[in-house]
Amino acid sequence: MSGSLFVISGPSGVGKASVLKALMPKCPDLHYSVSATTRAPRRTSQGTVEQNGVEYFFVSKEAFEKMIAQSEFLEWAEFNGNCYGTPRAYVEKLLAEGKSVVLEVETKGAGQVRALLPEAKLIFLVPPSMSELKDRLEGRGTEDPEEIAVRYEIANGEMETAALYDYQVVNDVVERAADQIKDIIDVVRLSRG
Ligand code: 5GP
Repeated sequence: MSGSLFVISGPSGVGKASVLKALMPKCPDLHYSVSATTRAPRRTSQGTVEQNGVEYFFVSKEAFEKMIAQSEFLEWAEFNGNCYGTPRAYVEKLLAEGKSVVLEVETKGAGQVRALLPEAKLIFLVPPSMSELKDRLEGRGTEDPEEIAVRYEIANGEMETAALYDYQVVNDVVERAADQIKDIIDVVRLSRG
């Protein structure tokens, strides 16, 4: 039987990385798909620098375009001038083995996954409020002020797509949001037998 695919989206600054970090130990048999991106590695909120193969596979624009041409992405999209994509082979292999996979993608990519794999479950992580989102974006200190302004602008548009998702989870407290996502994953898997 094919495994279950979960997609998590949410505006920049909502805390997707923190929630996923809290979620993974709660779901030991859930596999996280590392995306490819043309964005440069940035500082993490823990003060370290993102590592190739951990947060992302960092690739050149040329390499990314070659991967598109060779149909290596399940989905890909441009976000704020950079490209991001989900490597197809890894996800398809795990699903074929009956395993569960989680992707973290922006809203256009989530739409592509839904069109391709309608049984995928889409989860939108919602900030407690837009002013809280702004505070978090400014407070994490990982982008410069212009980048923060653009990401906040994009976030407003992304929030409008939240209703298209199967589930909305408010990230007020990271552990609580991770627990809610775990419950969703457990229910989906149980219902699929
Ligand atoms: P960031 O630069 O903050 O790491 O990511 C920017 C946006 O790209 C976030 O909304 C993130 O969820 C999204 N993203 C990360 N990986 C992928 C991917 O493989 N595909 C798509 N479509 N979006 C992604």
